Amino acid sequence: MNNIEHHICGRLAPNTSGRTQDVTNPASGRVTGKVALGAVEDVNAAVAAAQAAFRAWADTPPIRRARVMFKFLELLNQHRDELAHLITAEHGKVFTDAQGEVTRGIDIVEFACGIPQLLKGDYTEQVSTGIDNWTLRQPLGVVAGITPFNFPVMVPMWMFPVAIAAGNCFVLKPSPTDPSPSLLMAELLKKAGLPDGVFNVVQGDKVAVDALMEHPEVKAISFVGSTPIANYIYETGARHGKRVQALGGAKNHMVVMPDADIDQTVDALIGSGYGSAGERCMAISVAVLVGDAADKVLPQLVERARTLKVLDGENLAAEMGPIVTRAAHQRITGYIEQGVKEGAKLLVDGRGFDANSAGAGCGDGFWMGGTLFDHVTPEMRIYKEEIFGPVLSCVRVHDLAEAVDLINAHEFGNGVSCFTRDGNVAREFSRRIQVGMVGINVPIPVPMAWHGFGGWKRSLFGDMHAYGEEGVRFYTKQKSVMQRWPESIGKGAEFTMPVAK
Ligand code: NAD
Repeated sequence: MNNIEHHICGRLAPNTSGRTQDVTNPASGRVTGKVALGAVEDVNAAVAAAQAAFRAWADTPPIRRARVMFKFLELLNQHRDELAHLITAEHGKVFTDAQGEVTRGIDIVEFACGIPQLLKGDYTEQVSTGIDNWTLRQPLGVVAGITPFNFPVMVPMWMFPVAIAAGNCFVLKPSPTDPSPSLLMAELLKKAGLPDGVFNVVQGDKVAVDALMEHPEVKAISFVGSTPIANYIYETGARHGKRVQALGGAKNHMVVMPDADIDQTVDALIGSGYGSAGERCMAISVAVLVGDAADKVLPQLVERARTLKVLDGENLAAEMGPIVTRAAHQRITGYIEQGVKEGAKLLVDGRGFDANSAGAGCGDGFWMGGTLFDHVTPEMRIYKEEIFGPVLSCVRVHDLAEAVDLINAHEFGNGVSCFTRDGNVAREFSRRIQVGMVGINVPIPVPMAWHGFGGWKRSLFGDMHAYGEEGVRFYTKQKSVMQRWPESIGKGAEFTMPVAK
C-alpha cells in the first residue's frame, strides 16, 4: 500500500493527524494508496518552512529564480510520461489526454521562465524638479493553492510556477482524490535547485484548507474547484484579510449555427463533451442547436456518442476512461434519472455500459458510457446544474439572439463557443456573450500561458485571472518609490499639497 504523505521543507513529512483517505484506481476500483489528511499542525509546519525560506528567496535575483524554473522545465520534459501515468492511475483520464494536461502545465513554467521581464517596473524621470518616481512589484510572502481532482498537474501549475518565480513561497493543498503527482512535482522542484521550504505540499481536506485560510502568514489563496467551495473560500479568505482568486464550476455551451461545418461540429461536440469523461471545467455540456442545425447534427452525434471507445485510460485506443470515483458515478447517474423524469428525450443512455463486454477490462471500475439528451429546457436541473460527467444536453433555439440570451442568463460563465462560417455572427457573438473565455469554431478555448484563464459570473470569485500577466499581478504587490537627493531639495517646510514644479 502506497502511503502518500506531505512534502515540507524539502522532504517527505509524515502525517500528524492519523486521518487518511483511500486513493483508488477508477478503472479497476481497487484501492492503491492512502493519502494523509493533514492536521492544523501540518499546515503550521508547512507555512513555517515557507516563511523561513521567504526572505532569502525573495532576495534572490529574478534571473536566478528563472534559472531554477528552466531546470524544472527540463526535468518536467524528462518526466512528462511518468506524471501522465500517475494522473491516469488515480484520475482515470486517458493517457494521451494526461500527456496533454502535463504539456499545458509545462506551458506555464515556460511563461514563468520569463519572470525578469515580467517583473520590470515603470520609471518616470523628473516627476517634479529633481524628483524621480518608479513602481516595482514585490512578492507577497507565503501563498497557498487549493486544487481540484480533475487536473492534478496542470491546475497546480497554473499557480506555483508564477508564484515562485515572482519570489513567493508556496503551500499546495492538492485534491485527496489524485494526490501522487504533487509529490513528484515537489521532488522535481527540489532537483531543479529550489531551496527547501519554497514549495511545500500538505495533503488533506477541509481541515487543511481552513487552517490555510485562517493562518495569518498566508497572504494569498488561489483556489480552483466547485462553485459552492469557491464562494466559501472567497468569503472566508477575504474575512481573514487575504488576497483571493477562486475559480469555480461551469456549464459551458456550444452554439451551433445552421451554416456550421457539420463534420467539424460533430467532432468538436464529441471531443469536448466526452473527452476526460466530461470532467473538465471547460467541457461542453450544452449544445445550443440553432434553427435546423439539430436535424443536421443529431444523426451523426447519436451514432458517435453510442460508439465511443470507453476503455482503461492506459489503452492507447481509449477515447474516454472511467469516472473518477464511485460517488461521482452515482451523482451523474442521478442526474440522468432526473433528466428523464423532467421530460428530456434520452437519445443515448450511458448507464447501461458494460465494461467487461466492451473490453474496458474490469467491471469493478466506475464505468459509464456517453449520454446524450435532446429537448432539454432551461428550467430542468440537468440544464441548470453542473453535472461534471459525460452527459451532453441539446437545447433547441430559433436564432442567435435567443442563444445569446439563454447563455447570458445562466449563472455560470466559464467557457463558451460558437460554430459558424459567418464572420459577423462570430464577431457579434464574442462581443455580446457574458462569458470569460470564448471560442469561435474552437470548442474548448483554454487560453495560452501568457493570456490568463478565468470565467465570469459564478465561475470566478475575485478579479484576477489565473496565470499570464494577471497571475504575476496577483502574486505581487505594487510599490511606488519617489526619490530626490539633498542637492535638489528646496528650502523650508512645505504645508501645501506637493505639485510638480
Ligand atoms: P471541489 O470543490 O470538491 O474540491 C476542490 C478543492 O477544495 C479540493 O482540494 C478539496 O479538497 C477542497 N474542498 C472540498 N470541499 C471543501 C470544503 N467543504 N471546505 C474546504 N475545502 C474543500 O472540486 P473537485 O470535485 O475536486 O473538482 C471539480 C470542480 O472543479 C468542478 O466544479 C469544476 O468545474 C471545477 N473546476 C473549475 C476550474 C476552473 O478553472 N474554473 C478548473 C478545474 C475544475
